[in-house]
Amino acid sequence: MKHELPNLPFPKNALEPYISAETFDYHHGRHHRAYVEKLNTLIQGTEFESMSLDQIIAKSTGPIFNNAAQTWNHSFFWNCLSAQRSNPRGDLLTAINQEFGSVDQLKDDFNKAAIGLFGSGWVWLVRDNKDGSISIQTTSNADNPLRHEATPLLTLDVWEHAYYIDYRNERPKFIQAFWNILNWEFAEKNFNAAKARSAAA
Ligand code: MN
Repeated sequence: MKHELPNLPFPKNALEPYISAETFDYHHGRHHRAYVEKLNTLIQGTEFESMSLDQIIAKSTGPIFNNAAQTWNHSFFWNCLSAQRSNPRGDLLTAINQEFGSVDQLKDDFNKAAIGLFGSGWVWLVRDNKDGSISIQTTSNADNPLRHEATPLLTLDVWEHAYYIDYRNERPKFIQAFWNILNWEFAEKNFNAAKARSAAA
């Protein structure tokens, strides 16, 4: 199947001043698009040509994995962002309080992980597929928790291309901005869906 670049779920200037329209021109319009186009080129004539994106991520390695995972990660990341302020609620809030003690502690741990991640990668809040616990994971380059028996609830891209236009080299400022535009409703939806899948299994 041919993979498509999804539209942003908001106008490209909707998250200003936290993330500029110019950043989205590059990050969505060029970087994300390039991963999708490269993936389509690489899978031609291979066993991956007929697979869904999730199947490719589960089974591939090397350049095909990198471009498939970056395609998935960015689509997921855009959905983690919103101009509407939100807060964790419901069962997700209960799980956060159980695992971290408070939302503020989760933010603190997440910030430390994001600042401390060397080089390019992603910071995630995930739900463990086996015991249902939630935790923070960092992955390098294109790697994704789907490969590590966990379900992503939310993510932050800490590749330099995610923040260099707006914040230059100051990753901590970008991480602080993220909390103002994080779509907690999307994270809650992911948590509830993962719980329902575990209960049905
Ligand atoms: Mn990126």
